[in-house]
Amino acid sequence: MVNVPETQAIEEHERRRLMTLRQLNLLDTPPSESFDRITRIASELFDLPIAAVSLTDEDRQWFKSRVGIDHWEIPRFKACCGEVADTSQVLVLPDLLESPHYRNSPLAQSGIRFYAGAPLQTYDGYTLGAMCVLGREPRSVTEHEIRVLQDLAAMVMGQIELQHAFGRVDPLTGLSNGSKFIEDLEDRSRDNAGMSCFALYIELIDIAEMHSLQRVLGLSCLDEAAREAAIRLQLRLGTGKVLYQVGLGQYVHILESAERCPDESEALDMALDLRQVLLSMPLGDAAPFMLHPVVGVMPFRLGEIAPTDVLRTAQSACQSARDSETGVSLFSVALDEQDMRRFALISGFRHALEDAGQLQLLYQPRVSLVSDECVGAEALIRWQHPTLGPVAPDEFIPLIEHTPMARLLTDWVLRHAVDQAAVWHRRGLGLRMSINISAANLLESDFITRLKSYLTEQALPVTALELELTERALIGNTRASTEALDALVEASIRIAIDDFGTGYSSLAYLQEVPADVVKIDRSFVAQIDHEARSQTLVKAMISMAHDLGYHVVAEGVETEKSYRLLQAMGCDEAQGYWLARPLTVEAFDDWLTAR
Ligand code: C2E
Ligand code: CA
Ligand code: CA
Repeated sequence: MVNVPETQAIEEHERRRLMTLRQLNLLDTPPSESFDRITRIASELFDLPIAAVSLTDEDRQWFKSRVGIDHWEIPRFKACCGEVADTSQVLVLPDLLESPHYRNSPLAQSGIRFYAGAPLQTYDGYTLGAMCVLGREPRSVTEHEIRVLQDLAAMVMGQIELQHAFGRVDPLTGLSNGSKFIEDLEDRSRDNAGMSCFALYIELIDIAEMHSLQRVLGLSCLDEAAREAAIRLQLRLGTGKVLYQVGLGQYVHILESAERCPDESEALDMALDLRQVLLSMPLGDAAPFMLHPVVGVMPFRLGEIAPTDVLRTAQSACQSARDSETGVSLFSVALDEQDMRRFALISGFRHALEDAGQLQLLYQPRVSLVSDECVGAEALIRWQHPTLGPVAPDEFIPLIEHTPMARLLTDWVLRHAVDQAAVWHRRGLGLRMSINISAANLLESDFITRLKSYLTEQALPVTALELELTERALIGNTRASTEALDALVEASIRIAIDDFGTGYSSLAYLQEVPADVVKIDRSFVAQIDHEARSQTLVKAMISMAHDLGYHVVAEGVETEKSYRLLQAMGCDEAQGYWLARPLTVEAFDDWLTAR
């Protein structure tokens, strides 16, 4: 009678065995000397004409290596190696013709009389096939010969594991790498779905800090510290516990337990402990820098989250650990959503640049406090994200500014703003277009050339343009930015100091910056109609800027009272909601006409 559960178990085991075999990527690969060497030794030791490393696929025996056979594969049906794979036992058949089962097998029919095979078994107990020797005469084997055959099978397995490990081990630390992490976690998720565990992401040094160290000290400056850290962490975890190196100085360990669920406090204690291990690591002369290790802890259930997401979220916890006092932080969904949003913004921006309709410039009027007339406008960018809706420039610009897309962003703004300024210019409106520029733009070697060529294309005089730069960008103090500023001055392009008063409270630098305009930040201006202190401050800023020869603009004028006060203080221009919000081109036209 057939035992159903038992057949099912056998089928399941065979399914997993085949999966393991296929994952090793050995089937149908070219011959390799490392296997052939073992096969030759087998043939010689047994003094037999035929030897093979035979892998048992679903319905065939495929030879990774062979001596004395011409073909690469034979059917699995009645193949002796297939029996070795099924039973995981050594199989010796002194004479095939004597065996009722194999007497009529294709092997026996081809003239084979003797067979001996030892199982090729993985650590987790799957038999991939057999290391076998065959002869055309009946033969017996000694105990000693069987042990030799088993040793040869073990050598083959060593070779297989070695090849498999290649590309999965970090050469510097000898730790398993990120690919192995993903593979292992996939395996664990299959076998132990639902089990709760914690990913501990350990970062030896802040990535940004690491890059600047590498610039100064060279690429290999961290190798020694990373190697030492790997050893110490592994020692602390103990043998049998796996530590992965997923990047230079970045390690991951999965805390899990078959007996009981580890809890949050246990995971955090472990994180603190591992961090302490790194903090107490002597660095010596080889590493003339400080380490700032942090550990991010990410709770998850096996099989419920993709391994790559485990890595990403654990690393996100690591980033928040940088801001925590303990240097250890538990993953937070809210923070992750922030990261995801940032990621979506950065990755979606390139598309936005190409997709007409996502980005738009609005124009906010600037009005002369002397004549009450509109004298110009500030171009302000808007982004309508296809899924996230409107995204404020305060949110996406600081993100984009730190990527190579800063150049594309400003280029987009310059082109559109210059085009619009040219339209106004041709209509004789006498408006000056003010454009916001990032510090990064100043470092682009061809920035001014590009700007000038846009002006030429549209036959727009430089006087119709003004560039707004923040204090921070203006006193970046690098040679490149100073040179770029000088070149702007040379080209007679007007420069405005944006957000004046918020950056470097020292006013001394004003003398050194080649700007023409000071825009007093809206945080001061917004208060003047109800706060005496702000009034005094703004008044002082205006008179000092005037003394230094600057044209003064107040931004964030929200009430008539503020507008009148600024007029009385002798301020030159105003910009703000009381006059107009940032407007579309059409609304801007209407607004101008209505005035
Ligand atoms: P900003 O250069 O200081 O621009 C002025 C901001 O103040 C604008 O915000 C404007 O809408 C807002 N504003 C104007 N009048 C008032 C008012 O009376 N009260 C208040 N509370 N706010 C007022 P927006 O458009 O959200 O822009 C924010 C920032 O984003 C800008 O600050 C600027 O730093 C940046 N930005 C905007 N467009 C661009 C651009 O094209 N390129 C670059 N690099 N940065 C831009
Ligand atoms: Ca501005
Ligand atoms: Ca501003």
